[in-house]
Formats: sequence, structure tokens, C-alpha cells
Amino acid sequence: MTQKYGIIGFPLDHTFSPYIHNTAFNFLKINARYDKFEIPPISFEKDISRLKSENINGFNVTVPYKQKILPFLDEIEPIAKKVGAVNTIKKLSKNYWKGYNTDLYGFIQPLRGYLSEIKNVLIIGAGGAAKAACFSLLSEKKEIELTIVNRTIENADKLRTSLIDSFKNIITTHSLLQMEIIQMQYDLIVNTTNVGMGKLSLQIPLGVSGLVHKNSVVYDLIYNPEETLFLQSVSNKNIIRINGLQMLIGQAKKSFSIWTDKEYPYQILDENNFYKSEF
Ligand code: NAP
Repeated sequence: MTQKYGIIGFPLDHTFSPYIHNTAFNFLKINARYDKFEIPPISFEKDISRLKSENINGFNVTVPYKQKILPFLDEIEPIAKKVGAVNTIKKLSKNYWKGYNTDLYGFIQPLRGYLSEIKNVLIIGAGGAAKAACFSLLSEKKEIELTIVNRTIENADKLRTSLIDSFKNIITTHSLLQMEIIQMQYDLIVNTTNVGMGKLSLQIPLGVSGLVHKNSVVYDLIYNPEETLFLQSVSNKNIIRINGLQMLIGQAKKSFSIWTDKEYPYQILDENNFYKSEF
């Protein structure tokens, strides 16, 4: 019987996940399919209960359900429980779902070569992706000093509180407005907001060209568009710029292994195809 996998979220127009997983299932000759299950917020609970009774082997969870899905899980891996968000679910037996957070793994992958030089970090945003980014960074490196800047300062403060429960690092928070007078330079700046994609594709979350030095890394978790205005805004600086594609592939690889107990066949992905293909 064909195994069933997929992704739940809303909206799901621009996801590359079906391409990433179906390409690997085909390559490894696994009898499985990965589909989009777009679930509107109004019918979330009803649709999730229906999904639970269906024969789904596993699925990814994306915006806006990474936290909302938690009450439907029967088990959560400890780190995902700490982060309070899940992006991967595996059905372990009939009606028994276990949740994982593979964003933590995906986030850090493109930074591996730079981590030794990174100490001062600016995180823009304080939602689910920001939390995963902070947990991932602070678990990886003790010496990091973190600044979180967010439109809603209360959400940045909430994120800080959840982090200081687990880490001893220096963590500061600012609103976007307060950030205008800060003259610090950061080794790593990460945009974790959705400013730069979809309806917000003509905006940037924060002007950062005065906040970088010649060895800074600027990382935008958005992968579609390939180059956001945020990344473009520092293109004249000759610094390292990373979009969200490596994170997306990293988290997908880890989800694939959780579901299939097999290594993702990384060599099959031609990243240039992502932006050429229609999904
Ligand atoms: P979320 O929990 O809804 O958080 C959204 C964040 O963006 C909040 O900090 C919010 O600020 C801020 N924000 C939203 N609209 C804004 C605006 N108009 N101006 C300023 N700030 C705004 O969403 P999420 O799950 O963290 O996802 C955020 C982004 O990360 C998305 O673009 C998603 O695609 C990306 N992501 C990428 C990957 C990957 O694999 N590459 C994985 C996960 C997420 P407030 O607190 O003020 O509302």
C-alpha cells in the first residue's frame, strides 16, 4: 500500500516540500506520496481529528499550526516540548502521533562553517521560527550574546523569558523603534519574520546596513522569493548572505529520516531547480 505523507498549513501555495520529498521517494523507490493538506483556520480542529483517523504515516506542520497542533499529539520529543513547537509528526501506531521539531536542525546547517566567529547575534522577530532559531543557536554555542528585536516588544520579552529558563546567555530585547538608535555591529543578523514574502514582499523588517561589519553573516529564513529586499539591502557590502532554502532542505532531510529511517539522498537535489520549477 502506498504510504501517505504531507504538509498541513495555511496557505500552502509556495511550499517546496512536496517536491523535496516526492523526488526522494521516487529516487529511493519508496512507495509513498507527499501531498499538500491545506487546512483553513476555521476548520482546523475538525480537519485534524479527521486526519488522525485516516491512514497518514506522517506529515509536516507549517505556519500557522506549529503550536496549535500540540494538544493533538500523544508524545513530543523533549527539545520540541521545550521549544513549544512541532513541525514533523510521525504516526507510531493507530491513533498515536509523535511530534518533533526538525527546524532546530535545519536552521543551524548553513551556519556551521561560520559559528566559530559568531558571538553577537541579532534576531529580528519573536514568533515560532525565532524561537527555534534562538534555541538552536544557544544550544550550539554557549558564548553567544543575543539581541531580539520585534514589532511587538511584549512578544520579544516573552521569548526572552522562555529562553532564560534554559540558557544563561546575555539576552536583550528591543522594539523596532528602539532599534533605530542602536549603533552596535553584529556577527550574525537573522530575519525570522514573514516581512519580505507574499503580501509583504516589498518591505524589509529592519534596515541593517549600519549594523554589519565586513565579516557579518546576514540570514533570512524566507526562501521564496530567493532574494528578499532584506538580503538585497546588504548586497553591496560583500558579506555572507544566506536565504532560507538550506534550512528548508535541512529540516526536510531530518523529517525524511524520522519517517523512513533512511538518509535523505541529498545528491539528487539541484537547488537551481527550486526557483525554475512550478510546484
Ligand atoms: P509567526 O510565529 O507568525 O511569527 C511572525 C513574526 O513576524 C513575529 O515576530 C511578528 O511580529 C513578525 N511580523 C509579522 N508581520 C510583521 C510586520 N508586518 N511587520 C513587522 N513584523 C511582523 O511565524 P513563524 O512561524 O515564526 O514564521 C516566520 C517566517 O519564518 C516565515 O516567513 C516562514 O516562512 C519562515 N520560516 C522558514 C523556514 C525555513 O525552513 N526556511 C522554517 C520556518 C519558518 P509580532 O510579534 O509583532 O506579531
